[in-house]
Amino acid sequence: MANSEFGYVRNFEQPDALSLSNWIVVRIDGRGFTKLCKKYDFAKPNDRRALDLMNAAASEVVKAFVDVVLAYGQSDEYSFIFHESAALFDRRSAKLATSIATAFTAEYCMQWSSFFPDQPLVRPWPTFDGRCVCYPKRKILRDYISWRQADCHINNLYNTTFWSMVLKGGMSPTEAEHALKGTVSANKNEILFSRFGINYNNEPLIYKKGTVIYRSYEGDAVTNGESGEARVADPTSKTQMEKERKRKLKAVIAVEHVNLIGEAFWEAHPYVLATKRK
Ligand code: ATP
Ligand code: ATP
Ligand code: MG
Ligand code: MG
Repeated sequence: MANSEFGYVRNFEQPDALSLSNWIVVRIDGRGFTKLCKKYDFAKPNDRRALDLMNAAASEVVKAFVDVVLAYGQSDEYSFIFHESAALFDRRSAKLATSIATAFTAEYCMQWSSFFPDQPLVRPWPTFDGRCVCYPKRKILRDYISWRQADCHINNLYNTTFWSMVLKGGMSPTEAEHALKGTVSANKNEILFSRFGINYNNEPLIYKKGTVIYRSYEGDAVTNGESGEARVADPTSKTQMEKERKRKLKAVIAVEHVNLIGEAFWEAHPYVLATKRK
């Protein structure tokens, strides 16, 4: 940037680099999707096309940002997790959040017609906001992921019951809302089964669990190491990091609908959140 007498105004900018050795979550969320769902006539409670579009957009974002180790999405939101050692944009919060949110927005809009061929996208275009949150320990990051997946489950059970009462049970939205006030999960499961013949356990996993996206290195001895220990590149070694970047670009992008709250997923994929530090 050229120097001028006006250059001093740059000093008014606030530094916003995120602390080192923290996992960074960038969560994006669709703006005004309650309205957008009505405008494009999304199926209730779950429009499969809209979820597939979210997942397609997120896959491209994961491919484009090699520092993202895992992404988790549900409804109109996606969380992109940057490795604790990520150095992208010098870890500047605004750069990270806006770059992810705009990349996601561009993908969502550009891929729209593949998922909604009969409904051309019109203004106002869908947009997504984004924020960064730091988690200083892997355990807290795991709790963050569990929190979003539990939210997915709670909302989906509520919405599945609510929309069954309205669409199949002939209740008004207000009546259904009143009837569900104060109910617990067991009550909703019972309503679904006895009144609508729906066994919640048999509902599609994508609705109950949301979607996880990660780079899969199944059977990759280099990643998993002889001893089964996950191998991690040394962030201070340029050659190791460059090798790692190339390997990530070649990896298979896995898109799954699985339980992330229990240990099974993490035990089967130890390399996803592997670190140099203990
Ligand atoms: P960063 O991701 O850090 O922003 P950058 O490559 O985008 O990196 P900028 O400082 O934003 O870096 O600079 C933008 C570059 O694009 C400049 O070199 C500028 O000359 C060039 N550029 C921007 N708009 C035009 C234009 N309309 N025609 C020709 N060059 C342009
Ligand atoms: P804000 O701009 O504050 O985020 P919002 O209207 O987007 O407002 P959210 O809390 O993000 O509010 O809720 C998103 C809404 O979109 C929820 O009502 C959710 O059920 C709906 N929605 C998102 N994805 C789908 C889908 N695939 N099928 C049906 N409904 C969906
Ligand atoms: Mg929203
Ligand atoms: Mg939302």
